[in-house]
Amino acid sequence: MSLLETRGLTKTFGGLRALSDVNLSVEQGELVSLIGPNGAGKSTLINVITGRLRPSDGDIRYDGQDIVGMDPHEIAQLGVGRTFQTASIFPERTVRENVEIAAHAVEEGSFSVNFFRRRDYFDDVIERTDTVLETIELEDEQELEAKSLPYGDKRRLEVAIGLATGPDLMFMDEPTAGMSPTETEMTVELIEQLREEWGMTICLVEHDMDVIFGVSDRIFVLNEGELIADGTPSEIRENETVREAYLGS
Ligand code: ADP
Ligand code: MG
Repeated sequence: MSLLETRGLTKTFGGLRALSDVNLSVEQGELVSLIGPNGAGKSTLINVITGRLRPSDGDIRYDGQDIVGMDPHEIAQLGVGRTFQTASIFPERTVRENVEIAAHAVEEGSFSVNFFRRRDYFDDVIERTDTVLETIELEDEQELEAKSLPYGDKRRLEVAIGLATGPDLMFMDEPTAGMSPTETEMTVELIEQLREEWGMTICLVEHDMDVIFGVSDRIFVLNEGELIADGTPSEIRENETVREAYLGS
């Protein structure tokens, strides 16, 4: 049984088919990538799987369980995580508090700053926060306000927030966007570390083809909402349809 499986997954926005009959499966421990031009449906696919959007049609099974119609926090509790966009960071809070909110939220069911009105910080929240800060190498920045971080560190905080929810399967939507080559390299190392040391299953959306072809076990290619190819990096490189539709050669 695959860890994640979609069948006939479709999402329409008015007349637009953002996802059209997508069938894919991800195995435990795999690092898969999702590529395709802007507007291909990559973020929509993540939003539908993580429960932020409801599919118009189709099935999604995670670990054998039908997750269509579940709330995002219920899906997160099952072990499906995602990196969060900078917009979901609490700018006035410290780096540490941002990670603690996420570590706590997965137990509590929603993100809330009210957490800080409570005195009973759970030991496991603190422990998880420490581990995440160490892994993401944000320990030295933990007492800084999130808004004061340089761009690359903000992007890493997004990953830290995703990680703090303790996922088995993590979606990373363009984690290196806007990063310098050095920051990109650090992020790639982190992705490999999450997979090798944490045994995490990862689904990566990324525009940098060197990154994609370097780290992926398998690549899914979306074009106008349709899954037009699925294969190993070398299979995808050789795939005529993909070359015509996307790689431009
Ligand atoms: P990608 O992440 O591959 O760039 P998206 O999944 O963001 O693509 O978008 C796929 C298509 O769906 C685009 O045409 C986009 O404009 C549209 N779309 C995405 N989200 C919404 C939404 N909430 N409402 C209406 N249209 C949307
Ligand atoms: Mg996107």
